[in-house]
Amino acid sequence: MLRHKPVAKVWIDPGCIVCSACETTCPDVFEVRETTCVIRPEALHAPFLQSRGQMISDAAEECPVQVIKFETIECEEPSHSL
Ligand code: SF4
Repeated sequence: MLRHKPVAKVWIDPGCIVCSACETTCPDVFEVRETTCVIRPEALHAPFLQSRGQMISDAAEECPVQVIKFETIECEEPSHSL
């Protein structure tokens, strides 16, 4: 059965080195400021995040100091009987 994991919540732990990689990968969600990166206000809402799960996951992987954290909702695709 196919599974996908929409993102429900994303945040940044202390330690950002302001490299801008996350904003390049996912500018809808991450905004790099002078001393740290922040989550854009609209990205604090789960419905906004759900279609951006892959980009958020990519940004978290690319973060050189691994401070991007996120929670997912585990879903199962509805099964289609013949
Ligand atoms: S990728 Fe990580 S270190 Fe770079 S700006 Fe984003 S949160 Fe900060």
